[in-house]
Amino acid sequence: MPNLQEVVSDIADEMKARADRGEVATYIPELARVDPAAFGIAVIAADGTVAAAGDSDVPFSIQSISKVFTLTLALGKSGDRVWRRVGREPSGSPFNSIVQLERERGIPRNPFINAGAIAITDLILSGHKPREVLGEILRFMQFLAQDPSVAIDEAVAASEARTGFRNAALANYMKSFGVLDNPVEYTLGVYVHHCAIAMSCRQLATAGRFLAHDGRDPSTGHSVVQAERARRINAVMLTCGHYDGSGEFAYRVGLPGKSGVGGGILAIAPGKASVAVWSPGLDRAGNSHLGRVALEALTRRLGWSIFGA
Ligand code: GLN
Repeated sequence: MPNLQEVVSDIADEMKARADRGEVATYIPELARVDPAAFGIAVIAADGTVAAAGDSDVPFSIQSISKVFTLTLALGKSGDRVWRRVGREPSGSPFNSIVQLERERGIPRNPFINAGAIAITDLILSGHKPREVLGEILRFMQFLAQDPSVAIDEAVAASEARTGFRNAALANYMKSFGVLDNPVEYTLGVYVHHCAIAMSCRQLATAGRFLAHDGRDPSTGHSVVQAERARRINAVMLTCGHYDGSGEFAYRVGLPGKSGVGGGILAIAPGKASVAVWSPGLDRAGNSHLGRVALEALTRRLGWSIFGA
């Protein structure tokens, strides 16, 4: 077995040197200010060993990676009723597509495309005030990351709130089909704020550990969800976590993963490790370009693909 820290350091060095870095997201103006040269990686193995390199302690905007955790909260609150509101099939469409929503009468294809995540946010908002539910999401992230300093980047949230016309269209469209229960502006307010949570690779990999270990965080023994639920969240991550790049990610990396337009990816090697990478430049599907390249190198060198060595 190769030395984990050596593998991780090698990959970080290779990624720092590469010229093909993708394009930083600009449709949320605040994200356009991030340095495209950044690269971070953190791997937390089953025994708790942490291997990290590059900018692994620099917080970045987790964006859509937050959708894994809001889905977890929604399943905790409503169980399988979640699946009446959103499907669990890959979309084959961009993350902010509106066409599919019309064909499918306002029921989003899965909880990770924007429409689906907005519907999930609406579900966990019901019965609460926006501020309360946002506090609950943030506390959940702090608890999982074992770090009370995890915070929302208010500048990113305000930037997206100012420019999120497409998400407002998706939300209003779903509202017209009766898919959202709360006022659209409340649901969108919570959504942009949970997307604007900032975390480092190390914090994010820590937060993902329960998904790698049958729903339990092995360091604390805390059961976050039942094993069956963790397995199912991983399945949705594998099939839908990278939008219309999900097939390519499964083909190249072979792990359940969730990307965000901040350039982060959380990837889960079941039974083995929780991994977070960050490189802000995106490919055409809006997924981190070098993040995917780094994960491909990692799973190849360690034989971690769920589909075999
Ligand atoms: N907050 C972003 C949006 O709604 C999240 C998108 C993403 O990370 N893919 O556009």
